[in-house]
Amino acid sequence: MINPTTISRILIRGGRVYDHDGDVHQPAQADILIAGETIERLGQNLPADDGTEIIDAAGKLVVPGFVNAHYHSHDVMAKGLFEEMPFDIWALHSNPSNYGPRSLEEVRLRTLAGAAESLRNGITTIQDFLTVLPQDEAVVDTVLSAYEEAGVRVVFAIAARDRAALDIAPFMAADLPEAIRKRIAGSDRKAKDELDFIAAQMKRLGLRPTARQTWALAPSAPQRCSQELLEGIAALSRTHHLPVLTHVYETRILAAAARRQPSSSSLLDTLACAGLLTEKLGIVHGVWLTAREIAQIAEAGSCVVHNPVSNLKLKSGIAPILDLHRARVDIALGCDNYSCAETQNIFIAMRLLCLLPAVTDPEPGPVDAAYAVRAATLAGARAVGLSRATGAIRPGMKADLIILDLNEPAFVPFNSAARQIVFSESGRAVETVLVGGRAVVRGAKLVTVDEASLAAAVENIAPAFRRDAQALATRNVDLAAPLLSASREAWKVPLGFERYVGRGRVRRGEDPSR
Ligand SMILES: [Zn+2]
Repeated sequence: MINPTTISRILIRGGRVYDHDGDVHQPAQADILIAGETIERLGQNLPADDGTEIIDAAGKLVVPGFVNAHYHSHDVMAKGLFEEMPFDIWALHSNPSNYGPRSLEEVRLRTLAGAAESLRNGITTIQDFLTVLPQDEAVVDTVLSAYEEAGVRVVFAIAARDRAALDIAPFMAADLPEAIRKRIAGSDRKAKDELDFIAAQMKRLGLRPTARQTWALAPSAPQRCSQELLEGIAALSRTHHLPVLTHVYETRILAAAARRQPSSSSLLDTLACAGLLTEKLGIVHGVWLTAREIAQIAEAGSCVVHNPVSNLKLKSGIAPILDLHRARVDIALGCDNYSCAETQNIFIAMRLLCLLPAVTDPEPGPVDAAYAVRAATLAGARAVGLSRATGAIRPGMKADLIILDLNEPAFVPFNSAARQIVFSESGRAVETVLVGGRAVVRGAKLVTVDEASLAAAVENIAPAFRRDAQALATRNVDLAAPLLSASREAWKVPLGFERYVGRGRVRRGEDPSR
């Protein structure tokens, strides 16, 4: 039994405390008493025992820590290396299977660098959907120990995939040289090997490797997995009560490929057949869902993880945010990986969640700032299986919270907490961050990791990574043109709906008024 006198206690005194169900514009002041990992009490003028650390939050705003419900830590080193690459060309340049094994030092540093930026921006929970190739438990251990060192909460998932072909493969020209066709097809793996590795890691490390670490399951995408693999993942999810996240209809190409099949072959049906379309499922992206598929998701109680920055940067289209909202599908937010979104900043994702619906619909709508804050907290927690643990500042929840300095320009004058978090703030006001009752950022600096030393160490290994990326780009040169022309074929296939605004109505050089 834990001796109560050994539990550390923190009293956050005098801050305005953001309550999803209260006044989201002018949150009321309250003290927050934290015992160990957990929020014990909220109230006015709470007393502090000897030994309780006091954090003065007068003139500050206390907000639940954010949940980044979609991220891949494998390519932190590729930050800023690519642009103007539609999805499949980008995939060729960023796929970890094309880079070969990385040193454990690189794995540790890249994990720390991603965690450091996340924490500085108030992200207290990361869902890392990590490709581990080759399957090496030392990589898993290195990643988890780096997250523990940084002090961030992590919901860890090992990406599973047994079909190697690029998503664009069905649209590649019939007369491609055999050598190029082989590279597009890749080498398939065995479903059993994928499942055995994941199950072995969960058995070896336990379902809670540390107090801040839990598991999720991550079949890469329905079209990248055999039925055997999807069913095996569904069985693991049922046995261990784990959330499942998977990329679904990220690009138009996938919806076009479904139209080409002889019978109806919705990727949602594939997931349903495998027993995965349940309330434990998070549909990552979901840009090209049809109305029927949105209804299926709503009926199953699955949620959607929206990644607006990567969808825009990879030219994937705009997700049907309003349709999902109308169908009462929960929408969580992801910042996605560095090679396609460049930053772990959920303030930007919240802002785009609110702003993007206007490109298709001028009517005032329900996706407002308070909704976006819920998406980045409660909906994210739900998507990663932490509903009762994080996402709100309430007694009994984990003490995952951030303190924003209201003297920062984004909050001067202070008219609305929700609107200024979403539309004004960039991350600069994040002053203090607690994860599970442990202060990991103070005075806008990480206290768990020396940021200058980390930056120097990352710069030290960066030239080797850039050389490998350049060598890969050189190998890919002859693939770019056939991939782009295949993508153009797929973009032309009629779907009956669009996620590119105005496409097909106003073409370049035409004057729509004539
Ligand atoms: Zn992803």
